[in-house]
Amino acid sequence: TVTLRGIRKSFKETDVLRGVDLQVGDGEFVSLVGPSGCGKSTLLRIIAGLEGQSAGSVEIAGAAVDGLRAADRNLSMVFQSYALYPHLTVAENIAVPLRMRRLSTAQRLPLVGRFMPGTTARLREIEDRVQDAAGTLEIDRLLDRKPGQLSGGQRQRVALGRALVRSPAAFLLDEPLSNLDAKLRVHTRTEIAELHRRLDATFIYVTHDQVEAMTMSDRIAVMMGGEILQCDTPARIYEDPVDLRVAEFIGSPK
Ligand code: ATP
Ligand code: MG
Repeated sequence: TVTLRGIRKSFKETDVLRGVDLQVGDGEFVSLVGPSGCGKSTLLRIIAGLEGQSAGSVEIAGAAVDGLRAADRNLSMVFQSYALYPHLTVAENIAVPLRMRRLSTAQRLPLVGRFMPGTTARLREIEDRVQDAAGTLEIDRLLDRKPGQLSGGQRQRVALGRALVRSPAAFLLDEPLSNLDAKLRVHTRTEIAELHRRLDATFIYVTHDQVEAMTMSDRIAVMMGGEILQCDTPARIYEDPVDLRVAEFIGSPK
């Protein structure tokens, strides 16, 4: 569960978030939609701990995380531009979040070995996790490749694999499909939906694509001017918008 209470954010004079309250339960998939500049990415970055809020609190899996660094927040974020390390293999890229923890002795294992410090048991565990994540996303045949040798869709799945490898309590996805062509987008969307069904995790998914929001979400949160105007099931958002702004946003093609 992710719980947001009264999240505010100002950059200099500008109020970007004006008191956001939201609770997303375990196993729930909530899409965050709204016009460009309304504060979606800022909100996700605050939940992830990549940005500090001006006021309000964030709880993940029942614990306040406001003092915690991003790496300690038990969640994974996937960005629109899923930057992979070009000099690392797919396996090494997926293992990156696991390598952040402090470990002592340096050893080498074939899969994610290079420069990897840690005990043998710990390294075995890392290898198992990388294999699991790669298997889930069907990129286990690509583990030795470098990002430059992959298609856009395969790269996107590596980025998802990196999010998956920590088995976090929550996934934050910021327009993860917007760099893909239409066909791959539908395919990857299905994969994310399947991933969600399989894991009992919290998903917060920012998208510009209303079809995506409609088909994937348990609830849709409509954001405008730094506030969530309505958070409801897709059916209720469409049939019973709380006000004209929601109706107009949802009713417009994009
Ligand atoms: P989009 O749909 O285009 O991605 P968004 O809803 O994700 O938009 P944000 O990126 O959260 O919007 O930005 C919200 C507002 O905050 C924008 O007006 C933006 O210019 C402003 N903003 C974001 N980051 C900063 C920053 N570091 N300094 C100043 N203003 C910022
Ligand atoms: Mg954004």
